[in-house]
Amino acid sequence: MINEQFAQRRQRLVDSIRNAGVDLLLVNNPVNVSYLTNFSGDSSWLAIGPNRTLLVSDGRYTEQIREECPELETHIRRTEQTVIQALGEILPKLGVRNVGVEATFLTLAEFEALKDAAKSLSWSPQKKLVEKLRLIKDGSELEQIRQAIDYAEKAHAMFGTSLRPGDSEKELTDAMESHLRRAGASHSSFPTIVAIGDHSALPHAPTTNRRVEEAPFLLLDWGASGRFYKSDITRMLVTGREKVESRLEKLYTVVLTAQRRAIEAVRPGIKAGDIDAAVRSYLSDEGFNEYFNHGLGHGIGMQVHEGPNIRAKSEDVIEAGMVFTLEPGVYLPGFAGVRIEDDVLVTPDGCEVLTHLSKEPGDVFHPTLS
Ligand code: ZN
Ligand code: ZN
Repeated sequence: MINEQFAQRRQRLVDSIRNAGVDLLLVNNPVNVSYLTNFSGDSSWLAIGPNRTLLVSDGRYTEQIREECPELETHIRRTEQTVIQALGEILPKLGVRNVGVEATFLTLAEFEALKDAAKSLSWSPQKKLVEKLRLIKDGSELEQIRQAIDYAEKAHAMFGTSLRPGDSEKELTDAMESHLRRAGASHSSFPTIVAIGDHSALPHAPTTNRRVEEAPFLLLDWGASGRFYKSDITRMLVTGREKVESRLEKLYTVVLTAQRRAIEAVRPGIKAGDIDAAVRSYLSDEGFNEYFNHGLGHGIGMQVHEGPNIRAKSEDVIEAGMVFTLEPGVYLPGFAGVRIEDDVLVTPDGCEVLTHLSKEPGDVFHPTLS
């Protein structure tokens, strides 16, 4: 039954291929191939058009393809051939003339090699035909994103319980990888950021040997990857309650309010840039906008960064079924950076925050110690 979903995705892509005026699209971004087929390997290209769909792979994957996408017509290339040489033999026999390629993924060298391998065909670079479909998540994708969030939240609980004053940023990022796997994830969806004290003022802080006991708080940015789908969350953690300055709690409240403004602004039809603007106008009023030096958020799904782009002046129009992060941050050099990041799903009349971890100041700054 599950493969029905992939067949539907391929059908929607065929409609886009027709609209793009090409006879066939060569999909070689492995994430896009997985999205369209359920195949989880790599080095395999999907040739897809109105009349024929063919997965061109190699002998390592014969068995895996049989398990993951048995309904697909497959061509296993000969071992002495490259995939491009194999395509050079196959494509001219498919009765196609104008072939689209993934302009944002195919390298120039591969493009030249393809043109060389199948000289009778004409080639047409296409931009993001599959990525556009991936913007709107279907039921099975949402289930897998929720699962990836659940893995990350379980890992967060393990992180909190095992945290010791002598732990360094490096040890904690390593530990998070293992918490995530124990929680059920395949791996972390990106290298975990643990930024202790004023290291948090660097939005993508490099990991050091600074220890938890050297400052009263830390910033944790982490996420889980399931078989295909990812999560991405940021939370502050107060580790030395008696030493934390009230200035930090105030800053935290401002960022939390900024994030709530973002959540309230999300609805179908709004431009992503306008959500960003709502946050920036509030932060300007509070005198912090110049310290918010990155985009407000990014789409999340099979990749930890995908469309839509939630940043200043983004023309991406928000639609129901999109999933993205909302992660305002204020970074005061030499003092602290505060970022709060949740993953949200756009609903017909607003959005649902998919992340469940508390971000209430009371829970962060004055947790009930068990
Ligand atoms: Zn993040
Ligand atoms: Zn993020």
